[in-house]
Amino acid sequence: MANSIAKGLLLSAALMLLAACNDANTRPQIDIEGKTMGTFYSVKVSGTLTESKQQLQQEIDALLEQANDDISTYRPDSVLSRFNQNTTAEPQPIPRGMADIILTAQRIGRDTGGAMDITVGPLVNLWGFGPDKRAVKVPSQQQIDAARQHIGLQHLKLLSDSRGEWLQKDLPEMYVDLSTLGEGYGVDQLVRLMARKGITNYLVSVGGAVSSRGVNGQNKPWRVAIQKPTDRENAVQALVDLQGYGISTAGSYRNYFEQDGQRYSHVIDPVTGRPITHKLVSVTVIAPTALEADGWDTGLMVLGTEKALKLAEEKGLAVYLISKTDDGFSAVMTPQFKAFLVQ
Ligand code: FAD
Repeated sequence: MANSIAKGLLLSAALMLLAACNDANTRPQIDIEGKTMGTFYSVKVSGTLTESKQQLQQEIDALLEQANDDISTYRPDSVLSRFNQNTTAEPQPIPRGMADIILTAQRIGRDTGGAMDITVGPLVNLWGFGPDKRAVKVPSQQQIDAARQHIGLQHLKLLSDSRGEWLQKDLPEMYVDLSTLGEGYGVDQLVRLMARKGITNYLVSVGGAVSSRGVNGQNKPWRVAIQKPTDRENAVQALVDLQGYGISTAGSYRNYFEQDGQRYSHVIDPVTGRPITHKLVSVTVIAPTALEADGWDTGLMVLGTEKALKLAEEKGLAVYLISKTDDGFSAVMTPQFKAFLVQ
């Protein structure tokens, strides 16, 4: 189970499994796990399959491979990497799925006042959190100002015509980074695969994005746990039943580097060009799709506790925020999130 512990979320099906192994009315449960997007995926299905586990895993791997070929910045020949390498203002053809991600990202970008900004790639790479993940020291203000010249959602246009979808930039060195949305997109692809196969009892995850519906092998609703924002594994902060929704957590306590006693996380504020420094350390969002949840979690993370809570209440979002205090952590959630809480 260790590999399903992802960035702030851990699948507590194992807790349920241990708790109810001797329960009489169990159902067959099929567990499929693999690697994708530099992290792990897990597909759990309870009930009987109409095909072999191997066949289902082949379809899962093919779906996630396609997602990587479309939107990975870690593959130099992906559709997204070719768009980033192109320095003209010529519209580039993109697949439908990628257009849906960009559309969602542009809307959440506007709603968060630019806090969630998929054009932030030059800054992510400058701080060493991009594909070439080089060991970095804190960049100079001059380097940050130079990188900021190449970002801004207003310079990215999504076009659509009878031939399909196109992406256009008017900054030659614009570098779009979809890392904050990829895992949610991968989960939604798996949810659509379950629906196509008529599978109604499943729990699917890619990295820290999860969606679940129905019951597990013990005939009990799947439970997804939100981890305490510590490096200690398995510290559970809260348990939810997703009822078919998607969930994602953004955290600033896992992916960071330290220099002169200061932590620099991978969540970048596009306005300052620097990693966030406020006390909000974990944002969990539940939304109708995992893509939506994955987009909002980073945008709210950048805003900080007060602004994130105010925006979440205005938009009626299901949000759970954990902030660092002098003697530990404090948590606050919106009423919409409470509806999913089981503990
Ligand atoms: P989240 O908290 O969801 O998002 C943080 C990430 O979003 C940052 O790492 C940065 O990239 C970006 N970001 C930072 N600030 C902002 C902002 N203000 N607005 C918008 N975005 C921001 N990693 C590997 O190591 N190897 C791989 O082969 C690999 N392949 C990948 C393939 C795909 C298709 C995708 C989508 C990602 C891949 N990754 C890979 C990256 C990895 O999976 C994670 O996406 C990345 O580490 C961020 O993980 P997270 O979910 O914790 O970040």
